[in-house]
Amino acid sequence: QKKRTLKKDSVPNLSFENIGGQQRSKAELKEALDFLIHRNKLRDYGIRPIKGILLSGPPGTGKTLMAKAAAHYTDSVFVTTSGSEFVEMYVGVGAQRIRELFQEARTGAKKSNKNSAIIFIDEIDVIGGQREGSQHREYDQTLNQLLTEMDGITTDQEVQILVVAATNRKDMLDSALLRPGRFDRHISVDLPDKKARHMILGLHTENKPLAEDVEIEQIATETFGFSGAQLESLTNEAAIYAMREGNGVIQQMHLSQAIDKVMMGEKTDREATQ
Ligand code: ATP
Repeated sequence: QKKRTLKKDSVPNLSFENIGGQQRSKAELKEALDFLIHRNKLRDYGIRPIKGILLSGPPGTGKTLMAKAAAHYTDSVFVTTSGSEFVEMYVGVGAQRIRELFQEARTGAKKSNKNSAIIFIDEIDVIGGQREGSQHREYDQTLNQLLTEMDGITTDQEVQILVVAATNRKDMLDSALLRPGRFDRHISVDLPDKKARHMILGLHTENKPLAEDVEIEQIATETFGFSGAQLESLTNEAAIYAMREGNGVIQQMHLSQAIDKVMMGEKTDREATQ
């Protein structure tokens, strides 16, 4: 997987082809990204830039991959953070971190000779969730700073910034975030259907030794409800079973056992949180 590693503040080497399924989400995302690519034309027509794209969907469906592929597609520097980084920060520190993030995006792009940057914020609901009263003041400052930075994005800046955020709790978001000119493009990234599961399993077994009789389609049928992340985990578990047996290839049996393992894992995780 070395070719896919990401140097800090550089353009990720991961394209939309590395993401299995998600045809509709990918098409919608590319359509929005074309606004970034053709921003000079937008400027001529006085169209405002797309500043924020919200990816929503269950955990492990590839939202982070989509954000990275978006940066690759637009040849943008990629800067990333997660809402969870802002938990329990002192008042003012979160807002400062947001300022730094935008600064990092600008300087990172200039350093790499790129004229656009994508800032990815995973778990945006942590900083942008609805709340009542004045508790969580530290979060509010963080959110306000994010909105201020986004409001400041125009088409005539040297480095064009696009913020891509991900959440699996879109219904929880503060409406201030979703207003026009902020995160006004919403793309849902859903659990894969059978065909998509087949493709994802294909991608994650590409570099693994499979026995000739392995039927990936069968595994795709049996993994209804699995996310991309669970499918990746399944192929990894199957490879571990095969390695333990030491016969050099992954057999159908290993994949079937791995389905159970991943399902059991989920179950115990759920029980633990109950
Ligand atoms: P979370 O909401 O938990 O942050 P996410 O939606 O951002 O999850 P990713 O981090 O993009 O999910 O996916 C986790 C891993 O799952 C990826 O690194 C990849 O190995 C695998 N994966 C998920 N979806 C896909 C997909 N559509 N195609 C290929 N691999 C996938």
